[in-house]
Amino acid sequence: MKLSSFGEKFAGDSGIVGLMDDLGNALRENPDMIMMGGGNPGRLPQMEAVFRRRLDAVLGDPPQRHRLFGRYQSPQGDHDFRACVAEFLSVQYGWKLGAGNIAIANGSQPAFFTLFNMLAGAMPGEHPPEHPGEPAGGSRRIHLPLTPEYLGYADAGLTEGFFSATRPAIDLLDDHLFKYRVDFGRLELDGGVAALCVSRPTNPTGNVLTDDEVAHLDHLARERGIPLIIDGAYGAPFPNIQFTAARPHWNENTILVLSLSKLGLPGVRTGIVVAREEIAHAFANANGILSLASGNLGPAVTLELFRTGEILDLAREVVQPFYQARARAALDEFRERLAGLPFRIHQPEGAFFLWLWFEGLPIGSQVLYQRLKQRGVLVVPGHHCFFGLDDDWPHRHECIRVSYVQDEEAVRRGIGLIAEEVARAYGAIIPRRSGLQESSP
Ligand code: PLP
Repeated sequence: MKLSSFGEKFAGDSGIVGLMDDLGNALRENPDMIMMGGGNPGRLPQMEAVFRRRLDAVLGDPPQRHRLFGRYQSPQGDHDFRACVAEFLSVQYGWKLGAGNIAIANGSQPAFFTLFNMLAGAMPGEHPPEHPGEPAGGSRRIHLPLTPEYLGYADAGLTEGFFSATRPAIDLLDDHLFKYRVDFGRLELDGGVAALCVSRPTNPTGNVLTDDEVAHLDHLARERGIPLIIDGAYGAPFPNIQFTAARPHWNENTILVLSLSKLGLPGVRTGIVVAREEIAHAFANANGILSLASGNLGPAVTLELFRTGEILDLAREVVQPFYQARARAALDEFRERLAGLPFRIHQPEGAFFLWLWFEGLPIGSQVLYQRLKQRGVLVVPGHHCFFGLDDDWPHRHECIRVSYVQDEEAVRRGIGLIAEEVARAYGAIIPRRSGLQESSP
């Protein structure tokens, strides 16, 4: 098969695809594998009951059922659902939104693909290029003001050099914690930057950019006439997996991308783009070409939850407390198991991962990942999350991302195995619950 340039990039084996395959195949290779690598949300019976109730109501009503199964919606999404989401967000935050500001996508992942490539990559120009094959208007890129970032963005660009990133400042905190901050002193935005993008809360770190950081980024973006893209896959108002006070941000220069996935609906594939009308409309045009229409299931199941505001209560009273309790338990367990080792954990402020930093880790995150996999626990090696950063910062090989949404006993076992392998990597002996033991398996 002769692949096009597009085919080579998107159908080939990129590092990220290899990692995803590895994560996907792991359970088949070892059915007892402790899955602390993936991005699946936890199972919350209360949420499942609500989704079931809503689905039963839709299925029991022939007009609604027909709307779910029997109709293409417009490429921008069902008007009633968009109007309802716009009203919900306007009431919550005072944003001036109508249905025209909302566009629906088949998950936020493809929404990012479309948005990124709509804004960055080869630019059209008024004059023919100086050299054949070069884009007439040069090329632009998406800039990540704080790296590490969501590795699902890494391969989303149609062109090479699609991302650039700024290394963060690091605050060392008590109790083995640390926190990344946007290093505004380092953040240089030249004319090649098409947009800024941040996930808030951040996958992989669990960081939540402060209101001041967001205001500063908003100011910089507006000054340069480029959009600020905020990925709210884990944020407020839903799923609200956020443990610090942080105000959601939107204005006409912001593209906020929300998702139903982490609420417990990753299988329905619904992403929600909130943007000024011009952008939402442009996005919908592209979505029409790529998808024809977006799926109806997510809107059908959640329309009433938005209309009544129930989604807010569920996010605050069911979803957020579940993850916050899990984060605390995992943090305590790591602190106990890693005692005596040079470890730090990013302050858990949201999302459902702990981001561990092992300073001076002699084996690097890739080897640690492989050893952990052999021991039966799957994590994400952190170096994949530093794409766009072109300096060789040792820190990028010293971190791993660990999800804590699996059942608690499995998470505890996983943490024990991670602690053993980290101790082995440092050539150390760590205390275990049953007393002092040699760390190697
Ligand atoms: N953004 C972030 C930060 C994520 O972690 C994910 C998935 O894990 C996505 C976007 C994509 O989610 P979805 O396509 O399910 O909406």
